[in-house]
Amino acid sequence: MQPAPLSVTHRLNTVARDRRISARRLVWLLAPGLLALSLAAARAPLPKGLDGMTICLPVVGPITRIDSTLSGRARALAEIHERAHAAQCRERGAVRSYAARLTIDGKLRAEAHAFCAEANWDLAIGYSRENVLARITDELETAYGWTAGRSRGEIVAAIGAACPPLSTRARAGD
Ligand SMILES: [Zn+2]
Repeated sequence: MQPAPLSVTHRLNTVARDRRISARRLVWLLAPGLLALSLAAARAPLPKGLDGMTICLPVVGPITRIDSTLSGRARALAEIHERAHAAQCRERGAVRSYAARLTIDGKLRAEAHAFCAEANWDLAIGYSRENVLARITDELETAYGWTAGRSRGEIVAAIGAACPPLSTRARAGD
């Protein structure tokens, strides 16, 4: 008959080995999950009213979708906008990107930043500052349900804070 202490030692070793195995197994469980998420993100239809979207996944990074029916200027703007979100995702990583969008202010900052990339392109090809600011404010007011609680003035202020070329101070210098 085996002495009891040896049996206990054996069991402890087994538990330790099981933990190592389950850590490795966890990676194998996460990999298909991330792959499935990536595929879903790449194929899922765009939410109504959005020209594009970027999903920020851990390890994988940004996955961008653009409305395939867009062309010309609309397509260029959508690509510029989503490229800015992809850059945010690469800079911050998935967890911080997700955390940054948990509040309306955080979402507004992230969107204003992406719209600023659009604004720079619009301004460079000759659109007026007022025109660009009005278009972006309209889009933030109408295309995103979560801005419903914000006044137009608050949205304009958020755009100005994230985008110096569209700020009130820049407009005063016209
Ligand atoms: Zn956006």
